[in-house]
Amino acid sequence: MKILVTGGAGFIGSAVIRNIIKNTEDRIINIDKLTYASNLGSLKDITSSDKYMFKKVDICNEKDLVEIFGEYKPDAVMHLAAESHVDRSIDDPKEFIKTNIFGTFNLLEVSRHYWEALDKKLKSKFRFHHISTDEVFGDLQKDDKKFTEQTPYKPSSPYSASKASSDHLVRSWNRTYELPIIITNCSNNYGPYQHDEKLIPLMISNALNEKKLPVYGNGEQIRDWLYVEDHAEALYCVLKNGEIGQTYNIGGDNQVKNIEVVKEICSVLDTLKPRLNNKSYSDLISFVKDRPGHDIRYAMNISKIQEELNWKPKESFKTGLKKTIIWNIEQYS
Ligand code: NAD
Repeated sequence: MKILVTGGAGFIGSAVIRNIIKNTEDRIINIDKLTYASNLGSLKDITSSDKYMFKKVDICNEKDLVEIFGEYKPDAVMHLAAESHVDRSIDDPKEFIKTNIFGTFNLLEVSRHYWEALDKKLKSKFRFHHISTDEVFGDLQKDDKKFTEQTPYKPSSPYSASKASSDHLVRSWNRTYELPIIITNCSNNYGPYQHDEKLIPLMISNALNEKKLPVYGNGEQIRDWLYVEDHAEALYCVLKNGEIGQTYNIGGDNQVKNIEVVKEICSVLDTLKPRLNNKSYSDLISFVKDRPGHDIRYAMNISKIQEELNWKPKESFKTGLKKTIIWNIEQYS
């Protein structure tokens, strides 16, 4: 199978590619604009594989996409390219609208024209897998039930609104044009190669550099954490076994308050890399003004993917976080 991955130089896309190249016979064509968020170093272990190909392409560029589809003739698309950082979307939403909405539209249209021209057998095998977020559902109050695939969309930030728009576009391309799509909505990821602007790597890097650990508001916001390699396996499982037109929630079943995440990072670092002054890293925690529109709680009900596709996360938050911290310490030594 030839899989066109968009955004494969990003945090999750690179984990998806590493997993597929290492564990399957499938071939990958990775297209990525190489924004500030990308890191081709995350693919260094697999770039020499003859099953892997990279092209620098912006998904907003229709001509380049047509050429890529014509040249490589993919059997499936895994669409991960996006602007992904909520704080940046609040400061400057334009790129989010461009890439996440217009870019997805562009990719859908090029995929549709390509798919419509395929012969019957290839046409029935083709899949367009759109990778999205739990943030499209908005937030939950303390006692609300977890998000299911039926939860109505209620995005809070320009980022989540742009992802919600892209989900709607993808779903409508199935309903209107019968493009064989699958959508996954996933909770917060963490793990190796995550950009330093996100909570967990930011806290680890600040701690190791003896900088303050800025926690938004009171730190009581709850996120559902999934180790990135578990997500990569889930995505491949959905691509292979998911049903056309369906949505699958993916999550770690690990709901933790942000402040607890930061304290756990400090406690693991206290053991693995004690500070020179022998104090705990938790002394560096500092509460800062909350993010506008900050969602209170996310929690994913993952029974559909567990029951129908037999996938469940392997890492607990404790084991995944420890691996992530060790990986980050190695980057600094
Ligand atoms: P990321 O920001 O680390 O990577 C995004 C990649 O997309 C980068 O390599 C970037 O260069 C590329 N890109 C951006 N604009 C592009 C464009 N116009 N054309 C081509 N490439 C472009 O993001 P991530 O954390 O790896 O997230 C990947 C996907 O998963 C996103 O769609 C995101 O919404 C979704 N998601 C992320 C999380 C999370 O916790 N990180 C959780 C659920 C869903």
